[in-house]
Amino acid sequence: MKKRLFTPGPTPVPENVMLRMAAPIIHHRNPEFMEILTRVHEDLKYLFRTTQPVVVLSCSGTGGMEASVASLFKSGEKVITVNAGKFGERWGQLVRVFTGNCVEEKVQWGTAIQPERMAELLKEHPDAKGVCLTHSETSTGTAADIKALCALIREKSDALILVDGITAIGAHEFHFDDWGADICITGSQKGLMMPPGLALVAISERAQDIINAHTHTQQFYLSLKKALKAHSAEDTPFTPAVSLVIGLDEALQMIKAEGIENIWKRHESLAAACRQGCSALGMKLFSNSPSFAVTPVWLPEGVDWSAFNKALKNKNGITVAAGQDEYKGKIFRVSHLGYYDELDMLTVIGGLERALKDINFDFEIGAGVSAVQKAFLGN
Ligand SMILES: *Cc1c(COP(=O)(O)O)cnc(C)c1O
Repeated sequence: MKKRLFTPGPTPVPENVMLRMAAPIIHHRNPEFMEILTRVHEDLKYLFRTTQPVVVLSCSGTGGMEASVASLFKSGEKVITVNAGKFGERWGQLVRVFTGNCVEEKVQWGTAIQPERMAELLKEHPDAKGVCLTHSETSTGTAADIKALCALIREKSDALILVDGITAIGAHEFHFDDWGADICITGSQKGLMMPPGLALVAISERAQDIINAHTHTQQFYLSLKKALKAHSAEDTPFTPAVSLVIGLDEALQMIKAEGIENIWKRHESLAAACRQGCSALGMKLFSNSPSFAVTPVWLPEGVDWSAFNKALKNKNGITVAAGQDEYKGKIFRVSHLGYYDELDMLTVIGGLERALKDINFDFEIGAGVSAVQKAFLGN
């Protein structure tokens, strides 16, 4: 049985990326590696649509979030965070640890914060030094209008804008420079088609100024100040995850060859087909502002999550993601982030049909697959 991963991180890794990483290890101070790192630094700018540095940290995505909060803000500084799911909640947890002054805006799961509400928050808290946002909230499969939010925050305040782009980069249109973000983070195991282990952090000019001026040190290893200093010499402050950086070089060549605009379009179209396939099976969609990275679906009435998941995994080799927190056992999430194509959507919807049939759910066999075919091929 073939195993097929449809989770929003880790995501499938292409064979050529795995092969590059399987080569004998090289030393990170030799010119061969420096050349690779230099190219990676350059290509990351392409990915994030920026002329500013994007630093490579050897940690998972959360390490990039922690480095950003710890490097930008001082103890006591007020930071607004938006909690519309697990990952927005994490921003709040980090801010509470590092500044102790967090204004957390809770948003109903499956919806995104509206710019009007953000305007009110900024008015109530003119002393806020930062706003932490999530572009694609993976726990709820919901995308926020980051372009509009950034424009609004820039217009109304001097607060720094931190964007968790961990499942948005490589799925949703995003322009770091033009949209005016100060920090954007992604992780290697999401849209980059890589194993876990790297966080990539884009840093605006004004964020660099603040980071470089800070003399307080609430951090040692996860320091953007150190990372920026090393970056300017095409280096890293500590031993980088050499194999992963080499794999990233390969993945970025694939991304450049396809073209970032085409990648955004592909994700939008895979997401639309996935939603249509699920709807055609009589399943209700969870999000009112769906992410292009992951599709959250309500489990149909009477369908037991663990029986359904067992049928998917054990009989069909398909792994999807469960719901989190209060939505555990109520929703599930199908990923199409990274290395996926149109036939993968037929496969996963076909797999859902096989599992639903296995647990005696009543639906028309082929209805989901047919909807996916029509989404791509027309009627
Ligand atoms: C996966 C994810 C994270 C956390 O990244 P780790 O690599 O697990 O540390 C943060 N935010 C979002 C939106 C994610 O999808």
